[in-house]
Amino acid sequence: MTLPHASAPRARQSQPKTGPERAARLCEELAELSLPDRILRAAEAGRAVFTTSLGLEDQVLTALVATTGAKIRIVTLDTGRLFAETTALISETEARYGLSIAIFRPWKEEVDGFIARYGMNGFYDSVEARHACCHARKLEPLGRALAGAEVWVTGLRRGQSGNRANAPLAEWDADRGLIKINPLADQSLEALKARAAADDVPLNPLHARGFPSIGCEPCTRAIKPGEPERAGRWWWEQDERRECGLHLSASVSGSRAQPRPQL
Ligand code: SF4
Repeated sequence: MTLPHASAPRARQSQPKTGPERAARLCEELAELSLPDRILRAAEAGRAVFTTSLGLEDQVLTALVATTGAKIRIVTLDTGRLFAETTALISETEARYGLSIAIFRPWKEEVDGFIARYGMNGFYDSVEARHACCHARKLEPLGRALAGAEVWVTGLRRGQSGNRANAPLAEWDADRGLIKINPLADQSLEALKARAAADDVPLNPLHARGFPSIGCEPCTRAIKPGEPERAGRWWWEQDERRECGLHLSASVSGSRAQPRPQL
Protein backbone atom coordinates (compact mmCIF):
# COMPACT_ATOMS: atom_id res chain seq x y z
CA MET A 1 0.00 0.00 0.00
CA THR A 2 1.31 3.43 -0.90
CA LEU A 3 -0.07 6.11 1.31
CA PRO A 4 -0.25 9.42 -0.53
CA HIS A 5 0.95 11.40 2.42
CA ALA A 6 4.12 9.38 2.86
CA SER A 7 6.32 12.18 1.58
CA ALA A 8 3.92 14.99 2.47
CA PRO A 9 4.50 17.18 5.51
CA ARG A 10 2.92 14.60 7.80
CA ALA A 11 5.93 14.80 10.12
CA ARG A 12 5.17 18.43 10.84
CA GLN A 13 1.63 17.61 11.87
CA SER A 14 1.05 16.85 15.50
CA GLN A 15 0.20 13.24 16.14
CA PRO A 16 -3.48 12.77 16.93
CA LYS A 17 -3.89 11.72 20.54
CA THR A 18 -7.61 11.43 21.21
CA GLY A 19 -10.06 9.13 19.49
CA PRO A 20 -11.85 11.99 17.70
CA GLU A 21 -8.50 13.38 16.51
CA ARG A 22 -7.41 9.99 15.20
CA ALA A 23 -10.73 9.53 13.42
CA ALA A 24 -10.47 12.98 11.82
CA ARG A 25 -6.94 12.25 10.60
CA LEU A 26 -8.02 8.88 9.24
CA CYS A 27 -10.88 10.53 7.43
CA GLU A 28 -8.44 12.76 5.56
CA GLU A 29 -6.14 9.86 4.74
CA LEU A 30 -8.87 7.54 3.52
CA ALA A 31 -10.22 10.14 1.12
CA GLU A 32 -6.97 9.89 -0.83
CA LEU A 33 -6.87 6.11 -1.03
CA SER A 34 -8.25 3.47 -3.39
CA LEU A 35 -10.77 1.04 -1.96
CA PRO A 36 -8.22 -1.76 -1.44
CA ASP A 37 -5.89 0.66 0.32
CA ARG A 38 -8.71 1.95 2.48
CA ILE A 39 -9.29 -1.62 3.68
CA LEU A 40 -5.61 -2.09 4.43
CA ARG A 41 -5.48 1.25 6.24
CA ALA A 42 -8.50 0.27 8.33
CA ALA A 43 -6.74 -2.92 9.40
CA GLU A 44 -3.64 -0.91 10.26
CA ALA A 45 -5.61 1.42 12.52
CA GLY A 46 -6.23 -1.20 15.22
CA ARG A 47 -8.05 -4.44 15.98
CA ALA A 48 -10.70 -4.28 13.28
CA VAL A 49 -14.09 -5.94 13.02
CA PHE A 50 -16.26 -5.70 9.91
CA THR A 51 -19.99 -6.30 10.42
CA THR A 52 -21.61 -7.65 7.30
CA SER A 53 -25.31 -8.00 6.55
CA LEU A 54 -24.48 -9.70 3.26
CA GLY A 55 -25.90 -6.85 1.15
CA LEU A 56 -24.21 -5.50 -1.98
CA GLU A 57 -21.96 -3.06 -0.14
CA ASP A 58 -20.92 -5.61 2.43
CA GLN A 59 -20.23 -8.26 -0.17
CA VAL A 60 -17.94 -5.84 -2.01
CA LEU A 61 -16.16 -5.16 1.28
CA THR A 62 -15.83 -8.88 2.03
CA ALA A 63 -14.27 -9.41 -1.39
CA LEU A 64 -11.85 -6.56 -0.67
CA VAL A 65 -10.88 -8.01 2.70
CA ALA A 66 -10.28 -11.39 1.06
CA THR A 67 -8.29 -10.12 -1.90
CA THR A 68 -6.14 -7.68 0.07
CA GLY A 69 -5.53 -10.11 2.93
CA ALA A 70 -6.32 -7.34 5.41
CA LYS A 71 -6.43 -8.49 9.01
CA ILE A 72 -10.05 -7.71 9.65
CA ARG A 73 -12.43 -10.03 11.48
CA ILE A 74 -15.70 -10.50 9.61
CA VAL A 75 -18.85 -10.98 11.66
CA THR A 76 -22.57 -11.06 10.97
CA LEU A 77 -25.67 -10.85 13.14
CA ASP A 78 -28.12 -13.67 12.61
CA THR A 79 -31.27 -12.24 14.14
CA GLY A 80 -33.23 -15.43 13.67
CA ARG A 81 -35.57 -13.56 11.26
CA LEU A 82 -33.32 -13.33 8.21
CA PHE A 83 -34.36 -14.29 4.69
CA ALA A 84 -33.29 -17.81 3.72
CA GLU A 85 -31.40 -16.22 0.81
CA THR A 86 -29.32 -14.17 3.24
CA THR A 87 -28.52 -17.13 5.45
CA ALA A 88 -27.48 -19.22 2.43
CA LEU A 89 -25.16 -16.45 1.28
CA ILE A 90 -23.07 -16.72 4.45
CA SER A 91 -21.69 -20.17 3.61
CA GLU A 92 -21.52 -19.37 -0.12
CA THR A 93 -19.36 -16.34 0.64
CA GLU A 94 -17.13 -18.27 3.03
CA ALA A 95 -16.58 -20.96 0.40
CA ARG A 96 -15.98 -18.45 -2.37
CA TYR A 97 -13.30 -16.51 -0.49
CA GLY A 98 -11.96 -19.19 1.82
CA LEU A 99 -12.69 -17.16 4.91
CA SER A 100 -14.79 -17.47 8.01
CA ILE A 101 -17.69 -15.23 8.99
CA ALA A 102 -18.38 -15.30 12.73
CA ILE A 103 -22.08 -15.42 13.50
CA PHE A 104 -23.57 -13.68 16.53
CA ARG A 105 -27.09 -14.60 17.57
CA PRO A 106 -29.39 -13.06 20.17
CA TRP A 107 -29.67 -14.54 23.62
CA LYS A 108 -32.65 -16.87 23.79
CA GLU A 109 -33.90 -15.33 27.02
CA GLU A 110 -33.89 -11.83 25.48
CA VAL A 111 -35.98 -13.00 22.53
CA ASP A 112 -38.29 -15.01 24.76
CA GLY A 113 -38.75 -11.91 26.91
CA PHE A 114 -39.65 -9.82 23.85
CA ILE A 115 -42.13 -12.40 22.62
CA ALA A 116 -43.72 -12.75 26.04
CA ARG A 117 -44.24 -8.99 26.26
CA TYR A 118 -45.07 -8.01 22.68
CA GLY A 119 -45.75 -11.20 20.71
CA MET A 120 -43.56 -12.75 18.03
CA ASN A 121 -44.37 -10.02 15.48
CA GLY A 122 -45.23 -7.29 17.97
CA PHE A 123 -42.83 -4.95 16.19
CA TYR A 124 -45.64 -4.05 13.78
CA ASP A 125 -47.72 -2.64 16.62
CA SER A 126 -45.55 0.11 18.06
CA VAL A 127 -42.23 1.84 17.61
CA GLU A 128 -41.40 0.87 21.18
CA ALA A 129 -41.85 -2.82 20.39
CA ARG A 130 -39.91 -2.50 17.16
CA HIS A 131 -36.96 -0.96 18.93
CA ALA A 132 -37.17 -3.60 21.65
CA CYS A 133 -36.99 -6.35 19.02
CA CYS A 134 -34.08 -4.68 17.20
CA HIS A 135 -32.31 -4.28 20.53
CA ALA A 136 -32.68 -7.95 21.47
CA ARG A 137 -31.93 -9.37 18.05
CA LYS A 138 -29.38 -6.85 16.71
CA LEU A 139 -28.00 -4.29 19.12
CA GLU A 140 -27.14 -6.58 21.98
CA PRO A 141 -25.40 -9.13 19.71
CA LEU A 142 -23.58 -6.23 18.02
CA GLY A 143 -22.13 -5.27 21.38
CA ARG A 144 -20.69 -8.75 21.73
CA ALA A 145 -19.48 -8.80 18.13
CA LEU A 146 -17.54 -5.57 18.68
CA ALA A 147 -16.13 -6.50 22.08
CA GLY A 148 -12.40 -5.74 22.07
CA ALA A 149 -12.49 -4.03 18.69
CA GLU A 150 -10.66 -0.74 18.17
CA VAL A 151 -11.97 -0.25 14.65
CA TRP A 152 -15.44 -1.01 13.32
CA VAL A 153 -15.68 -1.34 9.54
CA THR A 154 -19.13 -0.91 7.98
CA GLY A 155 -20.70 -0.81 4.53
CA LEU A 156 -22.51 2.50 5.13
CA ARG A 157 -22.93 4.61 2.00
CA ARG A 158 -24.17 8.19 1.83
CA GLY A 159 -26.60 7.46 -0.99
CA GLN A 160 -28.48 4.82 1.00
CA SER A 161 -30.74 7.33 2.72
CA GLY A 162 -30.99 10.93 3.83
CA ASN A 163 -30.10 9.68 7.27
CA ARG A 164 -26.71 8.60 5.97
CA ALA A 165 -26.13 11.52 3.60
CA ASN A 166 -23.28 12.88 5.71
CA ALA A 167 -21.64 9.59 6.67
CA PRO A 168 -17.89 10.25 6.92
CA LEU A 169 -15.18 7.84 5.85
CA ALA A 170 -14.12 7.63 9.49
CA GLU A 171 -15.68 8.86 12.70
CA TRP A 172 -15.25 8.47 16.43
CA ASP A 173 -17.99 6.36 17.98
CA ALA A 174 -18.00 7.77 21.50
CA ASP A 175 -20.64 5.35 22.74
CA ARG A 176 -18.61 2.31 21.78
CA GLY A 177 -15.17 3.87 22.24
CA LEU A 178 -13.85 2.94 18.81
CA ILE A 179 -13.22 4.36 15.38
CA LYS A 180 -15.91 3.56 12.87
CA ILE A 181 -14.66 3.35 9.30
CA ASN A 182 -17.08 3.51 6.38
CA PRO A 183 -14.80 2.83 3.39
CA LEU A 184 -17.68 3.01 0.90
CA ALA A 185 -19.28 6.17 2.26
CA ASP A 186 -18.54 8.17 -0.88
CA GLN A 187 -19.23 5.40 -3.40
CA SER A 188 -22.27 5.31 -5.67
CA LEU A 189 -24.62 2.37 -5.95
CA GLU A 190 -23.82 2.13 -9.65
CA ALA A 191 -20.07 2.02 -9.03
CA LEU A 192 -20.47 -0.78 -6.51
CA LYS A 193 -22.76 -2.75 -8.79
CA ALA A 194 -20.19 -2.45 -11.56
CA ARG A 195 -17.39 -3.52 -9.23
CA ALA A 196 -19.39 -6.51 -7.96
CA ALA A 197 -20.17 -7.59 -11.52
CA ALA A 198 -16.57 -7.19 -12.69
CA ASP A 199 -15.24 -9.19 -9.74
CA ASP A 200 -18.07 -11.76 -9.84
CA VAL A 201 -18.90 -11.05 -6.22
CA PRO A 202 -21.67 -13.37 -4.92
CA LEU A 203 -24.78 -11.29 -4.25
CA ASN A 204 -28.06 -11.83 -2.48
CA PRO A 205 -30.59 -12.83 -5.19
CA LEU A 206 -33.14 -10.58 -3.48
CA HIS A 207 -31.36 -7.53 -4.90
CA ALA A 208 -32.55 -8.55 -8.37
CA ARG A 209 -36.11 -8.85 -7.04
CA GLY A 210 -36.45 -5.25 -5.92
CA PHE A 211 -34.74 -5.35 -2.54
CA PRO A 212 -31.82 -2.86 -2.62
CA SER A 213 -31.65 -2.95 1.18
CA ILE A 214 -32.16 -6.27 2.95
CA GLY A 215 -32.77 -6.77 6.64
CA CYS A 216 -35.02 -9.14 8.54
CA GLU A 217 -37.69 -10.83 6.43
CA PRO A 218 -40.78 -9.52 8.26
CA CYS A 219 -39.41 -5.97 8.22
CA THR A 220 -38.24 -5.71 4.61
CA ARG A 221 -40.27 -5.44 1.42
CA ALA A 222 -39.34 -4.81 -2.19
CA ILE A 223 -39.42 -1.16 -3.24
CA LYS A 224 -41.35 0.38 -6.10
CA PRO A 225 -39.61 2.20 -8.96
CA GLY A 226 -38.53 5.66 -7.82
CA GLU A 227 -38.69 4.89 -4.11
CA PRO A 228 -35.61 5.56 -1.94
CA GLU A 229 -33.27 2.62 -1.44
CA ARG A 230 -34.31 1.99 2.15
CA ALA A 231 -38.04 2.61 1.67
CA GLY A 232 -38.67 -1.10 2.08
CA ARG A 233 -37.27 -1.21 5.60
CA TRP A 234 -39.90 -0.86 8.41
CA TRP A 235 -42.16 0.59 5.72
CA TRP A 236 -45.14 0.86 8.08
CA GLU A 237 -43.35 3.42 10.27
CA GLN A 238 -43.73 7.11 9.51
CA ASP A 239 -40.40 8.27 10.91
CA GLU A 240 -38.16 9.15 7.98
CA ARG A 241 -35.11 8.49 10.15
CA ARG A 242 -36.10 4.92 10.89
CA GLU A 243 -33.10 2.72 11.53
CA CYS A 244 -32.50 -0.39 13.57
CA GLY A 245 -30.10 1.53 15.80
CA LEU A 246 -26.85 -0.13 14.73
CA HIS A 247 -25.70 3.09 13.14
CA LEU A 248 -27.29 5.58 15.48
CA SER A 249 -25.35 6.93 18.39
CA ALA A 250 -27.46 5.20 21.02
CA SER A 251 -25.42 3.37 23.58
CA VAL A 252 -25.05 -0.33 23.20
CA SER A 253 -25.86 -2.09 26.36
CA GLY A 254 -25.95 -5.63 27.54
CA SER A 255 -22.61 -6.85 26.25
CA ARG A 256 -22.09 -9.69 28.67
CA ALA A 257 -19.07 -11.73 29.44
CA GLN A 258 -20.90 -14.88 30.45
CA PRO A 259 -22.09 -17.08 27.58
CA ARG A 260 -25.81 -17.78 27.58
CA PRO A 261 -28.01 -19.85 25.27
CA GLN A 262 -28.41 -18.27 21.85
CA LEU A 263 -31.30 -18.82 19.51
FE1 SF4 B 1 -36.98 -7.51 14.90
FE2 SF4 B 1 -37.66 -6.48 12.53
FE3 SF4 B 1 -35.67 -5.38 13.99
FE4 SF4 B 1 -35.38 -7.76 12.77
S1 SF4 B 1 -35.65 -5.73 11.79
S2 SF4 B 1 -34.73 -7.26 14.80
S3 SF4 B 1 -37.44 -8.68 13.04
S4 SF4 B 1 -37.88 -5.47 14.49
